[in-house]
Amino acid sequence: MVYTELNSLVINNTSRQEICQIFGETYDPERWNDWRWQMRHRLTKPEHFQRLLRLVPSEQQGLLKSPEKFAIAVTPHFAALLDPEDPFCPLRLQVIPREEELVVNPTDMIDPCGEDHDSVVPGLVHRYPDRVLFLALDSCAAYCRYCTRSRLVSQGEMYPLTRRLDAIVAYLEEHTEVRDVLISGGDPLLMSDEPLDNLLRRLRAIPHIEFIRIGSRIPSFLPQRITPELVAVLRKHRVWLSLHFCHVRELTPETAYACDLLADGGIPLGSQTVLLKNVNDSEESLKQLFHSLLKLRVRPYYLYQCDPVVGTAHLRTSVQTGLDLISKLRGHTTGYAVPTYVIDAPGGGGKVPIQKETLLAYENGAALVRNWEGKTFTYTDPKI
Ligand SMILES: *Cc1c(COP(=O)(O)O)cnc(C)c1O
Repeated sequence: MVYTELNSLVINNTSRQEICQIFGETYDPERWNDWRWQMRHRLTKPEHFQRLLRLVPSEQQGLLKSPEKFAIAVTPHFAALLDPEDPFCPLRLQVIPREEELVVNPTDMIDPCGEDHDSVVPGLVHRYPDRVLFLALDSCAAYCRYCTRSRLVSQGEMYPLTRRLDAIVAYLEEHTEVRDVLISGGDPLLMSDEPLDNLLRRLRAIPHIEFIRIGSRIPSFLPQRITPELVAVLRKHRVWLSLHFCHVRELTPETAYACDLLADGGIPLGSQTVLLKNVNDSEESLKQLFHSLLKLRVRPYYLYQCDPVVGTAHLRTSVQTGLDLISKLRGHTTGYAVPTYVIDAPGGGGKVPIQKETLLAYENGAALVRNWEGKTFTYTDPKI
């Protein structure tokens, strides 16, 4: 199946036509499915959204005031998925700013995960002994309002990769304990094939680097970017992908097609989800998302408690909500469909998995455990 054939699956193209009209163009499936066209026609201005959505006052204010702190951008692909009438549309909440973004809570932070503190050279965070976080770009196809890296992303303050790469490679060559590189950003898949290929080739030339993965929201925001040529680059360098999805409505025919290209191309796929108030904080919503991801051969990897980033309190749930939700999944559905629920410990403690107590007591070699139904059992250690 090619992208143009996908359009026969789209029942209603009205919003696509409206989006093209904003830019004085008519809807043309071929152009629509070109990722560079999508990037050139991103919705970024209040008037773009006014034409497409029935905005509530909090969104109107957010659109006017937020750009000073954190850029606004939505790809035409994603904009066409927003419900024009429902301000609580789970996709709209993720990308349309609200006035609440300007609220500063005393415990909110600019850099909640303490990445800047663990930054060893510009754009490289070395926190865990054997793996590093490599910030490749400072831009994304669209901006998640709860972004944990809004301090960097879209601000245009990071030096271009070409000016930073030599220092990063030198650090990695010297640090033979690093066996795992997570390339994130910004969205690394916004790079063109050739620079991405060059970057991966330089990392692969370092003998002790065994494992390379890329964190990306491209299959949700800009699935047209996943081309057979890109898949060939990823396969050549044996890259894993950690994708980012928050709601089942992101899994459009285009996204399913992109995931198929990747999975058929031999790229292992994981997914990370941020727990968000009114977006996915129900058993039903998480189950639908995780089951649908498994159907696309994407393994839910982490469910994140939303980081306490300044201006995101309106999107955060309590930890109790997360604990309750994850215990409604564990044991109740396919183990592969249950991600690890983590808090990325504020202040740079790293990811800490949390779940309700399942080990009730462990004394004299006897472990008292509680199962998914709440029943208790004892496991006794071998006596040697
Ligand atoms: C998440 C993260 C990693 C990777 O952690 P995994 O548990 O291996 O997925 C590495 N470095 C930093 C700084 C991170 O935040």
